Amino acid sequence: MRLIWWLSTVALAAPLFAQPALVPLKAERDAAQAVDEEYTRKIREYTTEPFFNSPLTDYLPASKTVPTPKAVLGDVSGAPGILPYSTEVYSYMRMLEKASPRVKVFSIGRTEEGREMIAVAVASERLIKSLDENRARLAKLADPRTINLNDAEADKLVAASAPIYYITGTIHSTETGAPTALMELAYRLAVDDSAYIKSIRDHVITLITPIVEVDGRDRMVDLYKWHLANPGKQWPQLIYWGHYVMHDNNRDAMALTLALTRNVLNTFISWKAQVIHDLHESVPYLYDNTVGDGPYNAWIDPILADEWQMMGWNNVSEMTKFGMPGVFTHGTFDTWSPSYLMFMAATHNGISRLYETFGNAGADTEERTLRPGEYARTWFKQNPPLPKAKWSQRDNNNYEETGLLTALNFFAANEKLFLHNFYLKAKRSIEKPRTEGPAAYVFTAEERRPGAQADLLRLLQAQGCEISRATAPFTVLMPAKKPAGRGGRGGRGGPATDGATDGATDGAARKPEEKPKPEPRTFPAGTYILRMDQPYSRIADTLLDYQYWAPNDPQKSIYDDTGWTFGELSDVQVARVTDVKVLDAAMTRVEGPVTAPGGVENSGSIFLVNHNADHALVTLRYRFPQASFDAAEEPFEAAGHKFNRGSFIVRNISAADLANAGKELGVEAYAVDAAPSVKTHPLRAARIALMHTWTSTQAEGWWRLEFDRLKVPYDYISTQTAAAEGNLRSRYDVIVFPPSRGNAQAIISGMPMYGNPLPWKVTPTTPNMGRTDQTDDMRPGLGWVGLEHLHEFVRQGGLLIVANDTSNFAVTFGFTPGVSVAAGRGLKVTGSALRSKMVDAASPIAYGFTDNLAIFASNPPIFNVTNMVGGGGSGRRGGDDRERPTGRGTADDPDLPQGRTPAEIPEEPHAETWEAMPLTDEQLRNPVNVIPPAQRPRVVLRYANNNELLVSGLLDGGAELAQHAAVIDSPYGQGHVVLFSNNPFWRAETKGSYFLVFNAIMNFDNLGAGRKLADK
Ligand SMILES: [Zn+2]
Repeated sequence: MRLIWWLSTVALAAPLFAQPALVPLKAERDAAQAVDEEYTRKIREYTTEPFFNSPLTDYLPASKTVPTPKAVLGDVSGAPGILPYSTEVYSYMRMLEKASPRVKVFSIGRTEEGREMIAVAVASERLIKSLDENRARLAKLADPRTINLNDAEADKLVAASAPIYYITGTIHSTETGAPTALMELAYRLAVDDSAYIKSIRDHVITLITPIVEVDGRDRMVDLYKWHLANPGKQWPQLIYWGHYVMHDNNRDAMALTLALTRNVLNTFISWKAQVIHDLHESVPYLYDNTVGDGPYNAWIDPILADEWQMMGWNNVSEMTKFGMPGVFTHGTFDTWSPSYLMFMAATHNGISRLYETFGNAGADTEERTLRPGEYARTWFKQNPPLPKAKWSQRDNNNYEETGLLTALNFFAANEKLFLHNFYLKAKRSIEKPRTEGPAAYVFTAEERRPGAQADLLRLLQAQGCEISRATAPFTVLMPAKKPAGRGGRGGRGGPATDGATDGATDGAARKPEEKPKPEPRTFPAGTYILRMDQPYSRIADTLLDYQYWAPNDPQKSIYDDTGWTFGELSDVQVARVTDVKVLDAAMTRVEGPVTAPGGVENSGSIFLVNHNADHALVTLRYRFPQASFDAAEEPFEAAGHKFNRGSFIVRNISAADLANAGKELGVEAYAVDAAPSVKTHPLRAARIALMHTWTSTQAEGWWRLEFDRLKVPYDYISTQTAAAEGNLRSRYDVIVFPPSRGNAQAIISGMPMYGNPLPWKVTPTTPNMGRTDQTDDMRPGLGWVGLEHLHEFVRQGGLLIVANDTSNFAVTFGFTPGVSVAAGRGLKVTGSALRSKMVDAASPIAYGFTDNLAIFASNPPIFNVTNMVGGGGSGRRGGDDRERPTGRGTADDPDLPQGRTPAEIPEEPHAETWEAMPLTDEQLRNPVNVIPPAQRPRVVLRYANNNELLVSGLLDGGAELAQHAAVIDSPYGQGHVVLFSNNPFWRAETKGSYFLVFNAIMNFDNLGAGRKLADK
């Protein structure tokens, strides 16, 4: 139906346009074109079974002028033992560019370590010559406002334009096949004269980034070369991929923190491409996973879901006809999270696609044995992979190329349909305010954290969104506040997002018959507005809206995080405005990146900086290590301004230096002649070590990335460093031990010591390894000596910061007397945003924060605290669960023994879930195990009550976690251990909680400030 539809409209609107064939072309080579005999023989030799190849890739056409991949590889693509470095891949692509007018190479940016990223365009000479004109037409389709949403005009543009299909390879460094497959694909597209390939190059511009994670690729080639140079030996795992993160480089599409993400997004947006098709290798033999399984992301245009089905099933259909086993779509991947690289197309009016082919993590040919679940036939896998087969890199390349060629051919045959859909999706994005809404997202000028607000707005700009700013106050109707829902929904427009107070969630008090009414709200001039009548409104809605994953959702193998609401997790007020009147507010477009105001006001030699937990404050502290910074232990007023608890009082710095830094960082300082009379303590530029294990660097990479971005200096050490070097306290004030994705024992033991050493270091064979950290042997862990060194470090006054699983480590190994971790029974939190409540606002860790912070949790440890060493206390739930024994009277009466006068019943001790039970007289009789008051755990934040615990994502069995401590300052010896149940640094999506860590760092030697001690 769809095809017929466009035929009628396009044919009427643009009769001159030559229509492509809609019947798939036969996949057969051009008999008139010579074949590269030697190359073809090698393809067949390296393919382990004839049915692991197709008529599209079982030969290579010859060319007298264009070099084949052999020119660089010395053998064919996919040959055993050959993995090219990025420079080799690029030099081949540039040879192609030189030899063929159908190929053009573009540099699209650099990686964190300075390596180049490229995009290679392949199409007919005509299309390559007219790239700019074509792009100008696509730009109009991408932004229908430029043609006043005129469909007839769009039809003409569609008729005259060629779409762009963007293929990205090797984002995952252990998935090694794509670069050689894409070298050969580029050659085929440029050289092959078969009708099948010609149709592609005449109708589609294929854009190829052969390597997305270039830093990781070069390390992986090193690792493979080490493996080849050390036959018979076990090889190290690829512990570092990119400079910061491993597999999670494919989870950055929301926060855009990695260079590779920004470079691919900028390429996609600036080329006005229609597709991102990302290549992965973890499933036999070809899984087109974009069709996936439910739940689908709730913010995509349904047109896209339809496109996924069309392209996915066509892929399966064509490759099934070739007789290639193991090709399927659907599968178990849920398409909920928008964090994958390919999903940037989905959130920007394009089409996201992802292949999983089958790789051997290197170029060895191996006998591969599959699990029953992998080779079982299912309704969506009618020709499943073989239970056992010899598998080669060439097989993998055959599948990747065949899949891509069938996809490109289908796309070419239906180019007008997909171009028209591209226009329609953009148009529907612009119409969003008056269709599904909202009309705008609004960021008030009264924001408490202007730096965080600017940071979030810059992210939205980087995502391609336009930001406007109100030039006068405006009033809109806001939806009525919803009461807190069942099962703990924090509620849209809840506390953190639009400045409402606790009252927003106490709906219990409201009478059921009262229907809440919309209320007017006025925003001041200077308020930022993200209008939704723009082409990329969809990504703004995706990032800023709330997520709800039903606990009883049929999808049980949840693929990734379920919640991410950026306003909440950034601790920035975001108002979702559905009233279309907002679009009539007086406003101007913001040119250039949004910044927060900064500088120095007034004159004087002492400077006051309000603490609002903006990240720039930690950058400021470390920018001037010699200046003296003090923290106010109470709120105060001075220079006509109110200052929060924790605010900075800065001395020994020139006004000019501070003003420059303030302008650059978006920090406002107020000069005064005399310091306010408020209790203070020094705020140090603490010496930091950031410690990693040699078993996983994935989670810590996100911490390191943000420490670097915010210019917080640290030594990067491993658990092996802590084992080898005593007296850590002489070098460090703070050791940050981010989550390491292992159990506590594994941190001690490291990897098994059975085989040979596993080095990770720079050598002539491995020049790209060891750039971040190095070791002669990755296997040893922290060990008992290292553990003792860490204990000594804390006892001597150091601060150890742990989160999530490293919190378990600290509890398990005795760093935290009085803190225990309970095992969750039915609790399920899968990457969700949860509501916290402030318990001790006087703790320096809470400086600059207000109540109701949303925090990110995934399988969080459930903390309990006691005043006794070994006091246990696990399994306590929110609410009073004590029960009386069977006896006389009603449920809350005392039982009465018969035949004697009643004894007076002493008051039972009571504590809230997040508190330690008060000590009893019995416990104090000989208090060997009683922790002295100043050494007891101090709870800073706790999880909210169950009915308001969930902010976004999935929460099941929340009663087990509700009200339990979330952030604990646990004194130990002279030092402290700060434990997080949540992960405060996660994928740059949790910027609202960073400063809990920075506060702990800068106040490491005064964490007891403001503490009220128990009297016994
Ligand atoms: Zn992958």
